[in-house]
Amino acid sequence: MATTERVLPISALDRFNARAQPRPRIAVHKFSSCDGCQLAFLNAGEALLQLAQRVDLVHFAEAGPVDPEAPVDLAFVEGSISTPEEAERIRRVRANSRYLVSIGACATSGGLQALRNFNADGAVGWTEAIYAQPEFIQSLGSATPVAEHVKVDLELWGCPVNARQVFQALRQLLFGVAPVVDKDKLCVECKRQQHVCVLVAKGEPCMGPVTHTGCGALCPAFGRDCYACFGPAENPNTAALACRFEGLGLVPEAVARRFHFINSHAPSFRAEWLKWQEPE
Ligand code: SF4
Ligand code: SF4
Repeated sequence: MATTERVLPISALDRFNARAQPRPRIAVHKFSSCDGCQLAFLNAGEALLQLAQRVDLVHFAEAGPVDPEAPVDLAFVEGSISTPEEAERIRRVRANSRYLVSIGACATSGGLQALRNFNADGAVGWTEAIYAQPEFIQSLGSATPVAEHVKVDLELWGCPVNARQVFQALRQLLFGVAPVVDKDKLCVECKRQQHVCVLVAKGEPCMGPVTHTGCGALCPAFGRDCYACFGPAENPNTAALACRFEGLGLVPEAVARRFHFINSHAPSFRAEWLKWQEPE
């Protein structure tokens, strides 16, 4: 008897996945951070469900599975290293991971919490000002990027990173391809998308000329200046941009502040901030 049942075609990828081989094991670790970069996975929606069919997500506390000491093929790390416990834990994560990818401004440059690195007393004065019982707060004197503690195979900048960045890196690493990160400056992305330049047309102190691309030129698309949440681009001419800001009428302190924000610990931004500091 003829059957009406339809046999679905099996794709090459399904056949590849059906081979008797262990599924890649992936972990997502959190250090000092706001959890925003982990949302790049959760916001991916259907792509995350498809990923879960092809890999074992062995540790991702925000999404469910918890096994922080599990050996994995690929570990994503969010957050800066800001406490003695984190300085220990990141070494164990590195030892347990074939590839380690740091995600977000906190993990790649120390993030906002690295502003305390410029405080002569480190975190001491701030914890006393904020917490009723600061003696219970264990904090390192500085908040630093993951790469200052262990070898990092790939850095994805941004505050936060987006799903496109994360899933592109995932695909490339799992298929054994060396990850390619676009190194253009934000201005190039802005021009490609035909946004009106907020620096030239509106005289806004936009950080686009020295900022790493990757966000899709989000802020200029809405007519506002970039504040460099994706960190410094390759070979940024921060000196020329700072002079341009002064030409727009910013006082030295305001110029310095443009480089002293989410990625203040990044060497090129830190150096420019220092140059424009008002003498004490
Ligand atoms: S980089 Fe930004 S979004 Fe990501 S964890 Fe740090 S503060 Fe949050
Ligand atoms: S335009 Fe600048 S500040 Fe805005 S999201 Fe992109 S990198 Fe961040």
